[in-house]
Amino acid sequence: MDNEIFDFFNTDLQFIHGVGPVLAAKFNDVLGGRSVLDFLLHIPSYVRPREILDSVIGAQNGDTITISLQIKSHKKGGVFRGRRMPTQIVCADKFAAPVTIQFFNTKFLDYWTEKLPIGQWRIVSGKLDYNNRGGAIINHPDFIEVPENAYKIPKHQAIYPSGEGLTQKTFSAVRDQIFKIMHERIAAYKLSERMLEFLDALEHVHYPETNEDLAPNGTYMAKLAYCELYAHQSAIAINKRNRTESKITRPVRIKKYDLIPKFYEILPFELTGAQQRTIDEIFTDFQKPIPMMRLVQGDVGSGKTMVAMAAMVKMAETGAQSVLLAPTDTLAQQHFAKLKTMCDKLGLVCDILTGRDKGVNRREKLISLKSGRTKIAIGTHALFSADVEYKDLGLVIIDEQHRFGVSQRTTMRAKGNHPDMLALSATPIPRTLSMTVYGDMDISIINEKPAGRIPIKTTKLPIERVDALVQRIAPQVQNGSKVFWVCPLVEESEISDMTAAEERYEELKKHFHGTGLCHGQMDKKQRDKVMEEFADPNSQMRVLVSTTVIEVGIDVPSATIMVIENAERFGLAALHQLRGRVGRGNLQSYCILLYGNNVSPDGIKRLDVLCETDDGFVIAEQDLMMRGVGELLGTRQSGWIQYHFVNYREHRDLFKLAQTAAVNNNSEDEDWAKTLRQIFNCSTVAGA
Ligand code: ADP
Ligand code: MG
Repeated sequence: MDNEIFDFFNTDLQFIHGVGPVLAAKFNDVLGGRSVLDFLLHIPSYVRPREILDSVIGAQNGDTITISLQIKSHKKGGVFRGRRMPTQIVCADKFAAPVTIQFFNTKFLDYWTEKLPIGQWRIVSGKLDYNNRGGAIINHPDFIEVPENAYKIPKHQAIYPSGEGLTQKTFSAVRDQIFKIMHERIAAYKLSERMLEFLDALEHVHYPETNEDLAPNGTYMAKLAYCELYAHQSAIAINKRNRTESKITRPVRIKKYDLIPKFYEILPFELTGAQQRTIDEIFTDFQKPIPMMRLVQGDVGSGKTMVAMAAMVKMAETGAQSVLLAPTDTLAQQHFAKLKTMCDKLGLVCDILTGRDKGVNRREKLISLKSGRTKIAIGTHALFSADVEYKDLGLVIIDEQHRFGVSQRTTMRAKGNHPDMLALSATPIPRTLSMTVYGDMDISIINEKPAGRIPIKTTKLPIERVDALVQRIAPQVQNGSKVFWVCPLVEESEISDMTAAEERYEELKKHFHGTGLCHGQMDKKQRDKVMEEFADPNSQMRVLVSTTVIEVGIDVPSATIMVIENAERFGLAALHQLRGRVGRGNLQSYCILLYGNNVSPDGIKRLDVLCETDDGFVIAEQDLMMRGVGELLGTRQSGWIQYHFVNYREHRDLFKLAQTAAVNNNSEDEDWAKTLRQIFNCSTVAGA
């Protein structure tokens, strides 16, 4: 039975040999879950060949090479006359060509000189860089092995999209464990032919030999993509059928109080036409006997929160409760701070519930929710923990909806009697796709920004100009402007991924006293603290250096400058999201896209799109057309459904095929469809 394998799929990664709770938590950050299945659905983005070369002679700048080197001498690094110098291990290859290995992290000064004694040979693998005097350099090699252990360096290395604190070596070790166990299990279970083929395709993409194996239209990827689309399309088809045939109904709620007129009175601004139209659409849905399933798409800063507030106030008129789910603590706090004031004026009890609430405090909040006293609850996942009960949950709003899995939506729904669902999404999906992707939802579009917004000035700049940039922003920082400075994750390195942000932080601290640092290896409390300090208009923290952990949707009105390093490594939609964190006040804001030396012409073209337009829909279309095969960072924030195998650009035909197949499903296929829905986490409204 195919179902048997879910025991294994659902195993927590912490129980896989060599993982444990700490690593499992890090995997959770990257995979968005911590089960074996979550790992299996996270596939490498490309293959890096690592055949052993005899000599560096002939290798190109930027090549990844694996080579035997003999250690000739050491030059210890450190800080000299204010400059940070790397530790250098000077080596020679078999043809006596010199190669220098460099380590920048000064905390590990003695480690490398001890580990690499003079005279010995090592097999070293990493990216080759020529310095400006033509010397061959390998910075922070990915592998250093004694010659007997050369076999430990893979000939074809699968490179996984990673996150902070997870090296490629960890990924491949965990993968090996998982497939080892899987082979044992497969022998014991009686799996269907379809399941075996599915698992076989999975194995091939986790052990790719060439990039062809990972190409969207390669045999294995296309097969997996089809399975994934079929899972989604069958869920959509069922939801749609249930809705159009009104199989799921709920009584229309009766208004008991008048709150909306007062709401309009206390609004601090005029609503835009698009906001008003969306609110009207929601209010109309409330009058229908079928539960609302509406997606609001509105660009960053288009004012979706107030639309959500209007919906919650309307719901409160009937005496029912609403929840507003935010993807992070900080965002929940921010929503709460804003909306609580309005609720107070309306006489509505509004509360916040996040993972931070513990003990008596939490118990009291739960009592208030259960009794129905709290009408508007704002928070995170904590809002649908098993022990949270509602008296009468009428409306569930999900902010930045793509961050919540379909199954979580279902859990939330189960807390009430078919509550209305409203999803808010900041990155518009191209119209050409929205039918197949959100086919079971009604869509409102907020295509208008509040009046008086000054467009953000966006420019691109090569990284060499960074000093000039610092000079240029200094006076503005003096005058109180706040700066987000985003460094992307370093894909892999021996020591850690946070070096880039850390080094930039050290550098900027010399120029700006109030500089903060925030990255994923700090614990969540520390991270939130830094973020809150930066957001506080009275604090002296003016520059925040961070990796992309800074929250989507965070509102810091005094932030007017956004600097993004290695911008070419992000997807367009992710860049647009990041940029949306400035330009929220009434001051001129700037976004500076810094690009690295190895930027491709396509990379430059992508950045140009950002410089030229601020329209999220245009950017989404362009993103779709230009999106590569998943080489980009930040796709998690792209705002579209996060497919694992599906490539929006390459698989357009498969969308249609899967849709047709799902609509014409026969009962024989339904078993397999159900299994696939389970694998891809696409539950339906009916819960099947
Ligand atoms: P998003 O759509 O990105 O969630 P928000 O709801 O956070 O946007 O709104 C961004 C900012 O614009 C907030 O500070 C909000 O108070 C303000 N705002 C929202 N609607 C209007 C409006 N109609 N006129 C002026 N300011 C508005
Ligand atoms: Mg928002």
